[in-house]
Formats: sequence, C-alpha cells, structure tokens
Amino acid sequence: MSDHEGIVPSAPLLKDLKFSILSSGSGGNSLYIEADGKRILIDAGLSEKKLSQRMVSIGRSLQGLDAVFATHEHSDHIRGMGPLLRKHQIELYTTDGTYSRASSTLGKLPGFNSIRAGQPVEFGELVVEPYATPHDAEESVAFVIHYQGLRLGLATDLGRATSEVISKLQNLDVLLIESNHDVEMLDAGPYPWVTKRRIKSDVGHLSNESCGEILSAVKHSGLHLVVLMHMSETNNHPDLARLTAQQALGQSTPNLIIAEQNHPTPLIPLCSPAKI
Ligand SMILES: [Zn+2]
Ligand SMILES: [Zn+2]
Repeated sequence: MSDHEGIVPSAPLLKDLKFSILSSGSGGNSLYIEADGKRILIDAGLSEKKLSQRMVSIGRSLQGLDAVFATHEHSDHIRGMGPLLRKHQIELYTTDGTYSRASSTLGKLPGFNSIRAGQPVEFGELVVEPYATPHDAEESVAFVIHYQGLRLGLATDLGRATSEVISKLQNLDVLLIESNHDVEMLDAGPYPWVTKRRIKSDVGHLSNESCGEILSAVKHSGLHLVVLMHMSETNNHPDLARLTAQQALGQSTPNLIIAEQNHPTPLIPLCSPAKI
C-alpha cells in the first residue's frame, strides 16, 4: 500500500494488528482492522463519503481494502456498503442469510463471498472467524479476529449471551462489546412499546447489565482493553454504562473506553505480550 507508506516512516505500519472504531451506534457502525499488510472493514453503516473522511482522519484510506464484512442486514450496518464496494471495487464477505436480505439494498457488487459461523476466513496471518449471534436478522454474525496469537472480539447486535457467544469471547486481548441501553431509561423513554419490547428481547440488543454479565464471564488477566459499543444516545448514559462495566470487571479492570457515533477512535495498536 504505497499510499500508506511515509505517514510514520519508522513505524511498521501494517505488520502489527491495529484497529479503529470508525463509528458505533444506531446511526451507523463500522470497524477498521489492519494486520500483516492486510486491511479490512467490518460493516459500512455510514455513507462512503463519511467513512472515507473518517479513514483519512486516522491516516488511512478506503482504497485497496482487502475485504469488507457485513455482520447483518440492518441499515445501521450496511447503509454505505453498496456505493463503497462499487467505488473501490472491493468484494463483500457475509453470510448467505445476510446477503439474501441485503441484496436489494446493496445493488450490484464487484463480488460476494459466502461466509458461515465457525468457518474462519484467512488473509495472510489475519484470520477473521465469524460466530452466530442471537439477533432479529437473518443469519447474523459477529467476529473474533486472530493474529499471531492475539485475539480481538467483536460482540454487538445480540440480544443475549448464548453459550457459544461466551465461549468465543474467552481469552481475548481486546473486547468490543455492546452496551446498548439502561433498562430503566429504556422503559421510561420515548420509544414506542413495540420498539422497547424488540430492543429488550432475546434477539435485540445487550443492556448494560447483560454486557456486565458477559464481562464477568469472560474477564481474565490478559484482557487489556474493553470498548463499550453501540450505545444508545436516547436510552443510555455513558456514566451508567461505564459504571456497570467497571463493577463487572472488578479490581483487575482493563482499560475501558466508549466508542462514539460521531468520532472515530484513534488507530489502536495491539501488541503481543512478548513485545510489551
Ligand atoms: Zn446495529
Ligand atoms: Zn442490528
């Protein structure tokens, strides 16, 4: 990627695993990951133009991406997907279920690669492992990213923690986990009853409390960073979500940050313990 060389000449730009949450929340989701010279995007819930701007702000570009993955067909995950894939001639990786539901929205694509839960996809040493999520979408998935013994887990848009979810999120170095709503704020808030019921259902979104239960079940001394994701601006408050997560993580609290809707995180490096 010659257009990336020279930004920080002395740094091994693409060899280490780095990621940035470009956007997180019901207004649009997208996660950028690079490692071993490979560059991928998971979800494209913002317009191609906005995603491009956010990539530039972290010193990267949408050009030359190796793959774009989709977790499921909801618009906050695929809104910008079709134009992005066509403009940059990138192939889509998603499940047959997601593709069948999303294809009319996506339009004609440069290429489609069918993925399935439990079947990892390899890009050099960067391995993308899909796992099934309980969500009101067709064959929705989330991902565990593997690279040289490092593990980054993404767990958003799921209504509850299944035993599969808990087992996939063990022994992670970084966990990006949904902390969507505070149940009391949701109950007292302005959403229609039907929407409230959907969000709280087993195939809806994780509450702060449910997020905390998962954190309790997967925390370990090697977990360096937890990012709270897909936070509702209407039915949650960052302080409430952070407090619940801190209580669940206990004394050995790793770094804890909250992903934002309107600003990307920096490009966050993930070093293997041996390099620290
Ligand atoms: Zn979503
Ligand atoms: Zn969703």
